[in-house]
Amino acid sequence: MAVLTQPEPARLPLPGRRDGATVRVRPLRCGEVLLPPRALDRPSGPLSRLRGIGLTTPRSRWSWVPVPVFLVEHPTAGRLLIDTGFHASVQDGARTSLGRRQAWLLPARQGAGESAPERLRALGIEPEQISTVVMTHLHNDHASGASQFPHATFVVDEAEWRAACAGGFAEGYRHEHFDQPWDWRTVDHRGPDACARAGFERTLDLFGDGSVLLLSTPGHTLGHQSVLLALEDRTLLLTGDAAYIRRAIDDDLVPIFLADEPLYLRSLAALRDYVGRTPDAVVICGHDAQHWPALEPTYA
Ligand SMILES: [Zn+2]
Repeated sequence: MAVLTQPEPARLPLPGRRDGATVRVRPLRCGEVLLPPRALDRPSGPLSRLRGIGLTTPRSRWSWVPVPVFLVEHPTAGRLLIDTGFHASVQDGARTSLGRRQAWLLPARQGAGESAPERLRALGIEPEQISTVVMTHLHNDHASGASQFPHATFVVDEAEWRAACAGGFAEGYRHEHFDQPWDWRTVDHRGPDACARAGFERTLDLFGDGSVLLLSTPGHTLGHQSVLLALEDRTLLLTGDAAYIRRAIDDDLVPIFLADEPLYLRSLAALRDYVGRTPDAVVICGHDAQHWPALEPTYA
C-alpha cells in the first residue's frame, strides 16, 4: 500500500548547539528478538539461505538478542532517542505490532516495563520530553515503538525513507510503523550539509557542535545510519545494524539479512578502520547479546 506521509527535509543543524558539548548516553534494552544461529554469520554451500534464516535448525537452538534504544542527553539540545525498539503491545504478543508473518519468522518479546516509554519513566523522564528521535533505519525492531513518541521530530536518511516506502515484509519493514502524521524529517548524506569526518566519507553534524554525528553506513539497509557521540574524554560509536555484533567488525561477518552486500562490506570496513584508529572508543553494536550485560548503565 502506498505511503501517505511526506517527510520534510531536515534543516541542519537542529537547534540547541553548544560548542564543545558532550552527551550522556544510556543504553536501554526494549525487547529481544529470536535469531537463528547463522543469521549473523551467513553460511555458504547448499541450502545456505534456508540454513541462514533457520528453517533447518530447531528453534531450541536459536538465541534471543537485545533490541536496544539509546537515550542521549545533550546539555542544551535536550533529550533524544536513537531508535524506538518494540512497541509496548509486544508485551502481550508480537502480532499486533509486527504482523503475523514477521512474528512467526523472527519471534519477538518484551518483558513488563521494557518499552522505551516505560524505561524512560523509570528514569523520571516523560516520553513527551524526547524532542528528537534519530532512526538508524526503519526495520520493524527499530521502528515498532515509534508511535509512542508522536510529539517528537524523527530524523531518518532520505534513502532509508524511500527504501522503507518501497519495501515491506520481505525487506523487514512495516509501513504502519512510520507512515504516520508525525514530524518526519529526512537527512541527505549526499547533499551539501554532508562531509567526511572521523574517517567516514559521509557524515552529518546533528547540532552543529560535533556532539552527535550521523554516519552514513548503508548496506544492511539502503539508508542505514550509525551514530558517533562525543563523551567527555572519548567517543561512543553506535554501529546500529551496520554491525550486529562486535565479532562482525573483528571477523568480517556477513549476516543473512542484507540490502546490498558491497555497500555493507564498505560500511563495515569504515567501522573497522575507525575502531582500529580509536582504541579508546566505546563501541556498541546493534544486537550483541554477549556484550550487552557488560554495558555500563550510563556513558558520559
Ligand atoms: Zn535492521
